[in-house]
Amino acid sequence: MFQAPLPPEYADLSSEEADARIESARAALGSRCVILGHHYQRDEIIKHADFRGDSYKLAKDATKRPEAETIVFCGVHFMAESADILTPDRQRVILPNLAAGCSMADMANIFQVKSCWRALEGVLGTDMSVIPITYINSAANLKAFVGERNGSVCTSTNAPTAVKWALEQGEKVLFFPDQHLGRNTGVKLGFDPDAEMCVWDPFKPLGGNTPEKLRESKFILWKGHCSVHQRFTVEQIAAARFAHPDVSVLVHPECPLEVVQASDFNGSTEYIIHTIEKAATGSTWAIGTEINLVNRLAKEHPDKTIFCLDSQICPCSTMYRIHPSFLCWTLENLVAGNVVNEVRVPEATKMYALVALQRMLTVCA
Ligand code: SF4
Repeated sequence: MFQAPLPPEYADLSSEEADARIESARAALGSRCVILGHHYQRDEIIKHADFRGDSYKLAKDATKRPEAETIVFCGVHFMAESADILTPDRQRVILPNLAAGCSMADMANIFQVKSCWRALEGVLGTDMSVIPITYINSAANLKAFVGERNGSVCTSTNAPTAVKWALEQGEKVLFFPDQHLGRNTGVKLGFDPDAEMCVWDPFKPLGGNTPEKLRESKFILWKGHCSVHQRFTVEQIAAARFAHPDVSVLVHPECPLEVVQASDFNGSTEYIIHTIEKAATGSTWAIGTEINLVNRLAKEHPDKTIFCLDSQICPCSTMYRIHPSFLCWTLENLVAGNVVNEVRVPEATKMYALVALQRMLTVCA
């Protein structure tokens, strides 16, 4: 999405000035505004958040403040869309910087997914038994696509339950946009990644597969990935174990299969946080996830040794676009009665996207 440059007075704000102005705008707005901060946001943003969480938790947190007419979502675009889908129309959702997208979500667009679906019908027949599952990290129109075709959304926490359910409804699953979460989930459920899965490359005819491969695969995995989590390697895990023989390795399931298999524990962002909270004093942890979260965990748990698996530091560059100056600009405009950067999902899209999200809640309850 396009974001116009900030007026110069915001672009040049010092961090102390931005802090003071954000706090003063928040005080003026009172309970009319709630600020949500994703775990991967920098500390300068997180300190202003009323709620912290992963994308799905934050969308639900927004519903806990029905009196707030504005939800300022410090995260990325698909998260603001999910909040708009799950909250009533009287609540508006604002993304402080419209250029904060998600490179993984952008790897599958509605035209590509519709074209994939048509190609699959060409091979498997129009009565094909394929259930589409989209990771919550996807655009609202993809959530609507699966909602309209008896599919569901999933999160990194409930992906195994959602996929198991899908395979009870149909013969195959089309999983997008993250191939790694899809593959890790399939392996967790006992499927063979070589014999029972194939990857759909949207830039190749039939996704780069033969008709036979598509017919025999249980999982058709979209060729998408998270640029942060794909960086982690088994070599990094070996180096961590060599340097710290007592280390426990904890990674996110958006990491490649071999990394998940070489780790000691894997799970969603919330799982990673709870695992560290419960960990014994004096324990050592190498974590494979976004650096702002790892650094915050290290700061909040000084009784444990916590470090990132990747010594080259790997922030989510799109999350990083929510700079305090953008938050300040957004809030001060609200105080002045101007709504900037509203994210609004069209009604028709919202209807089916909600079907897909509600199906997830029913299936994974
Ligand atoms: S960490 Fe990965 S999946 Fe999450 S917002 Fe950034 S690019 Fe997207």
